[in-house]
Amino acid sequence: MLIDKVHLNLVNIECMPTSTKFNAIIDLDEDIEELLPYLAAEIRGCTYVHGARQLSYMDHGHIVAIKPRQITVTALRDEIEAQDVCENLKAVINEVHRRRNQITPTFYKQARLDPLTVYRELPRTNCGECGQATCMAFAALVVNRELPVSRCSPLLQKEWQDIRERLWELLKSAEYDTE
Ligand code: SF4
Repeated sequence: MLIDKVHLNLVNIECMPTSTKFNAIIDLDEDIEELLPYLAAEIRGCTYVHGARQLSYMDHGHIVAIKPRQITVTALRDEIEAQDVCENLKAVINEVHRRRNQITPTFYKQARLDPLTVYRELPRTNCGECGQATCMAFAALVVNRELPVSRCSPLLQKEWQDIRERLWELLKSAEYDTE
């Protein structure tokens, strides 16, 4: 096991004094810089540039940034959620460390799409069937990996087959789920 002990600290989001969410700062007891390219290979949708000493990605609305000795996670509800996230991250790091000899490291990955790119490939009717008021709001949630693109049910109709295929390709190339 690479990571055993961590120190978890919850902090208020200073730039938003009225927010009820917290950020977590997780200090690691080991330096994991050498593992970052292996984590980059295994974590879907992350951004990693070797040498920048940071890997980041969106996970259910949280921004996760992994540095050699510290991980930050944004927008957590409370300490229970923070502990869960912390344990999951420890498990991922230890599992990737255990399997690192079978993983081809990745030294550059830029997988995140921007909302406008996704929006351009949606039906753009603002029909609301996905539960969002506008297609743009839906696109923003899709790029943050908070909603799957399949929630846009009109896309599954034959009428929109062409744009669906284009959008599916786009999302898959950036390591997004399409289900
Ligand atoms: S269901 Fe699709 S077309 Fe309708 S508002 Fe949502 S994203 Fe737009």
